[in-house]
Amino acid sequence: MSKPEVINWHERAAALKPEGQAFINGQYVSALSGETFECVSPIDGRILTQVAACDQEDIEQAVKAARKAFEDGRWALRAPAERKKILLQFADLIEQHSEELALLETLDMGKPIRDSRSVDVPATVRCFRWYAEAVDKLYDEVAPTSPSMLATITREALGVCGIIVPWNFPMIMAAWKLAPALAAGNSVILKPAEQSSLTALRLAALALQAGIPEGVLNVVTGFGPTAGKSLALNMDVDGVFFTGSTQVGKYIMQYAAESNMKRIGLECGGKSAHIILRDCEHLDEAAEAAAFGIFFNQGEMCSAGSRLILDEPVRDKVLAKIQQMAQNMQPNNPLESETRLGAMVDATHTQRVMEYIASGKQEAQLLLGGKQVRQESGGCYIEPTIFDHVSNKARIAQEEIFGPVLSVITVKGLEEALQIANDSIYGLAAGVWSDNVNTLMKATRALKAGVVYANCYDADDITTPFGGFKQSGIGRDKSLHAFDKYTELKSTWLRIR
Ligand code: NAD
Repeated sequence: MSKPEVINWHERAAALKPEGQAFINGQYVSALSGETFECVSPIDGRILTQVAACDQEDIEQAVKAARKAFEDGRWALRAPAERKKILLQFADLIEQHSEELALLETLDMGKPIRDSRSVDVPATVRCFRWYAEAVDKLYDEVAPTSPSMLATITREALGVCGIIVPWNFPMIMAAWKLAPALAAGNSVILKPAEQSSLTALRLAALALQAGIPEGVLNVVTGFGPTAGKSLALNMDVDGVFFTGSTQVGKYIMQYAAESNMKRIGLECGGKSAHIILRDCEHLDEAAEAAAFGIFFNQGEMCSAGSRLILDEPVRDKVLAKIQQMAQNMQPNNPLESETRLGAMVDATHTQRVMEYIASGKQEAQLLLGGKQVRQESGGCYIEPTIFDHVSNKARIAQEEIFGPVLSVITVKGLEEALQIANDSIYGLAAGVWSDNVNTLMKATRALKAGVVYANCYDADDITTPFGGFKQSGIGRDKSLHAFDKYTELKSTWLRIR
């Protein structure tokens, strides 16, 4: 048997020349102002490239191209089966470039290369394939009206869609929106986060190569308050679909209201509760899921189980196991194949997480970690951190930290666990462990969250909707429900003479 190929990612990284120009109307272009910003790798502080700092005038160009492409029907008026074929070709190209895309993702935002390869790229490919396969199997409706009338209910593409995404899963977050939007026939303008523009820019060229016509998929790089805001305020954009913080989600609502009442979809922050109850008989499994639920992706996860709610009789055992696992997850260079915890996205965010850790030290007991490490590398690394004896009123229990920081809250039984779990402005995800089916039923019904995990955490598939209750957002990504965001329903009445 031949040995698996060992890839030297450091060598490949040194040879890579990432694209930094925006992609408008089928071409890579500079910002009209000529402005750029540095794309810095959080692994070692190396400058990877200069990225176009687009602003309102660039957004206007992209919207014009997208509008023209939409109205002349070069994509929207193709049969769904044709769009499917091209989107499948796009997915194949992403798969063929998986090593390059995984490397770009890791260099740009610091996640371990093993995760970019085994999670981010395959999930992106699957997402495009799934929506491509779905789009020629959706039927419209005929209403049960009087026999003298024919009333049809049809879905039409929305038109020009703005898509604004964060940096924690740059490709997957973009794919969850791009795939249904494109499959439905829309033209799109994608605004990646300024911290992670590289894979979005590479995907744009692969989309063109696959046969997605020019003007249909545009990528406009730049900062939130300039490029992002201009996109959300633009009068000719029909909808803005956003993933990011709750604060910016509220701005998006405001911009939509101030401009053309465009449709919005918001996937925002979370402070998810992960409950382990006394009647859970698989404590090792639960502890492992709890550790993975907060430390995977450096804790830069919207659905991170950042509030661990432990029932008193099992707390010591679970906590000891999590501590042991966390100790084995020390941050390391994400280009090393065995690294489990990589670099934080950038210096600014690292600072923000360290401020939360400082505030945690004032209000709870630091059990593990809490330090910035590997500073000599020039990169951004934080140890897995656990706070014990946290009150749910504490800042580290109420605010989203978006880092490898776990807040442990101890409770006496199910009722208290549920009350604390739901005492949050957020409602993205929640998890509960028990071996009593009645307890599980009661808990899963009571938890106010868009995704609830029972005896597991972070289970994921494109077939299920993802999104939040309360201030975690409006609308859902993934599954067939996502088509609701990118289409308008039209009722057409025809009198039969
Ligand atoms: P962010 O809100 O700061 O930025 C997200 C995107 O919005 C970026 O592209 C940014 O440039 C843009 N933006 C910023 N200000 C803007 C403005 N005024 N107008 C228009 N666009 C603007 O979030 P982030 O730090 O990139 O990502 C972390 C956040 O994303 C966390 O809160 C996390 O929970 C959330 N998130 C949610 C989900 C979900 O599915 N619910 C998934 C991933 C991340």
